[in-house]
Amino acid sequence: MEKGGSILEDKVLVLNRSYQAVQITTVQRAICHLVKGTAKVITPDWTTHTLEEWVEASRFYHNGNGRLIRSPSLSFIAPDAIYLVTFDRLPRIEVVFSRANLLIRDRYTCQYCGKSVKNPKDRTVDHVVPRSRGGKTTWDNVVLCCRKCNLKKGDRTPEEAGMRLLTKPKAPRWESLIMEDFPKEKKKAWRQFLDYAGLPELSD
Ligand SMILES: [Zn+2]
Repeated sequence: MEKGGSILEDKVLVLNRSYQAVQITTVQRAICHLVKGTAKVITPDWTTHTLEEWVEASRFYHNGNGRLIRSPSLSFIAPDAIYLVTFDRLPRIEVVFSRANLLIRDRYTCQYCGKSVKNPKDRTVDHVVPRSRGGKTTWDNVVLCCRKCNLKKGDRTPEEAGMRLLTKPKAPRWESLIMEDFPKEKKKAWRQFLDYAGLPELSD
């Protein structure tokens, strides 16, 4: 496949066999699925196409928008969404631990006092069991914390400091994070599939 700019890195929404949005992948990986026959292209009118059908359909759909994937033998439109023909379940996808994802999980609020910490100056990351006591940097031991609470807690556990966590920290569910991660340019193409999946409506 010719690498037409970054088309192969473009985001593709993945639906499972029950038409639930389950994952975001790249055009490149989507093509692997299509070649193997484990997925079909799905269009907003809910039509599904095998790769061969999609190559054919692309001739009709392509309107010169430059999103064609080309190889010596095939050319077709980079799909916006694919449908996994055999995959029935919601995949268990581990959400990568990162500061950005932590902000989303903890909704930009201090997990001790509930204060908003939208301003980066106001927030810090707290190890519930302090690192000096063997506490790990994992979803179940790290929370968002305001500077004041962080200072108060110091190098102690919440119990020792007489503080209480608002919620017990744990790895977030993937579906709640996917909402924050949507590429803006894809919202229109994906809206229908996501609405069907019962996910919150996307804002423009
Ligand atoms: Zn606080």
